[in-house]
Parts: sequence; structure tokens; C-alpha cells
Amino acid sequence: MTESASSPVVPVTPWRATVLTLFPEMFPGPLGISLAGRALATGLWALEARDIRASATDRHRSVDDTPAGGGPGMVLRADVLAAAIDAADVAADRPKLLMSPRGQPLTQALVRDLAGGPGPLIVCGRFEGIDQRVIEARLLQEVSIGDYVLSGGEIAALALLDACVRLLPGVMGKLESGTDESFSDGLLEYPQYTRPQAFEGQPIPEILLSGDHAKVAAWRHAEAEALTRTRRPDLWAKRPEQKGTGRKKPKNTTDG
Ligand code: SAH
Repeated sequence: MTESASSPVVPVTPWRATVLTLFPEMFPGPLGISLAGRALATGLWALEARDIRASATDRHRSVDDTPAGGGPGMVLRADVLAAAIDAADVAADRPKLLMSPRGQPLTQALVRDLAGGPGPLIVCGRFEGIDQRVIEARLLQEVSIGDYVLSGGEIAALALLDACVRLLPGVMGKLESGTDESFSDGLLEYPQYTRPQAFEGQPIPEILLSGDHAKVAAWRHAEAEALTRTRRPDLWAKRPEQKGTGRKKPKNTTDG
């Protein structure tokens, strides 16, 4: 690979993701284009998708079986999955995650944490899920991308990786782009505008064209607060300023 003088410095051991899946062909998928794809091509991060089925041992190469105790569907076998995890041979300091609707919710704080580390091993479930014993035996940390059920962990893993990769040094154009957006300070982002100055009769808010940076910042902060208060009272209540003495009650407004 050749590098131009303007390329960012590539770390010796880049941030890496190891994904265990029954469908390795789903990777890099959408992470192969745009920001994440360019960063992958230039070595700012690395991705290895490993086929769980390669660790199957019987002659049918089966990876799943019926649930103990009965019920619908199939469950990923503990022995096959444990063998797949062991074969990946990841360094002890790398987090071992399992995408799972029962997991801790994926938040920007967790994304920042993961992006700041060496990069995770991610197990993608399928069918009804995976045998509980492998979760415990390999200390898998369950992570959910939301309160809904996907058919497999792959799309969840792609979402998690996308969120992490954009925070890696050198991936986003401007360093600031990661610090001033939704959730970075417990607030949703303020509204954004660009040309044209008038769109279907709607002008851009005048203050944004004033050139007064302090006023612009104050306006954006006020907008971000108002949006968060109305749309996400849960986030608003969790803000540090809202905690402690005389906890301010979120304004009782509804969206729309
Ligand atoms: N029977 C399970 C759901 C299995 S869905 C249950 O009710 O909890 C199959 C796989 O998709 C899961 O093993 C998991 O890897 C993935 N998955 C589904 N929904 C997810 C979510 N919201 N977040 C992360 N992974 C999810």
C-alpha cells in the first residue's frame, strides 16, 4: 500500500474488530464504503470476520440444536461457539462482546469506551440465541442496540462498529465532529442548516448568519437543551446539572 504525505499516521497495531458469525460475507458490507471503508482500506482499523461453522466438528457441520426444555427454533451450541472463540485467539485485553437483545444498551459512552480500547471480539447470535453456558464460560459481555429483536447479531455488530470506527483518530475529517454532536454531552444535537439561504420560503435562522460565534454557540446550546427536554426527558433527567440539590424538573412539554 502506498501512502501520500497527507495520509494520517497509521498506528502499528490498529484498532481491530474480530467478528464471529455464521455469515462472514455480511462483512465489511456497509463498513466497506465511505468513511469507515476508506479507513479500513488505509489500515486505520482492521476487520476479521470468522465463520463459526468452521469450528463445527460433526459430519453435518451442525452449529445449532433444539432448545433444552422444548420450545420453538434452534440454539447455537456452546461447544461449537466456544471452539470458535478460542480459535480466534484474541488478546486478553480485548473486550469479548455478544450482540443480544438482553444486553446492556449500546450508548455513546460505551462506544467511546470501546473506540478507546484495542477493539472487541464480537459474537453474532442467530436463531433463538446461544447456549447460556458459553456466555458464562467465555465471559461474554452482552450488548443490545435497542428494544427490538433482529434475526441475527450481524446488523447489530455493524451498527456498533460503525459508531466506534468514526471516532478513531484520523477517520473523521475534523477532530471536532465527534465532540459536538448528539449524546456527546448528554444532549441531542441542535438543528443544522446549510445553503440555500431560503428554502420554500423558510430562511435560515438569522443568528447563524450573524458571524457572532458566542451568540451562535449560545443559540445552539439553548436549542439542544429544548430539544432534549421535549423529546428525551429520560436523557434530560440524567444530565449532571439536573442531579444533586434542587433537581430541576424537566419542562412538561410534548413533542409535536
Ligand atoms: N430469542 C432471543 C432473540 C434471538 S434473535 C431473545 O428473545 O432474546 C437472534 C440473534 O440476533 C441474537 O442472538 C442476537 O445476537 C441478535 N439480536 C437480536 N436482537 C438484537 C438486539 N436488539 N441487539 C443486539 N443483538 C440482537
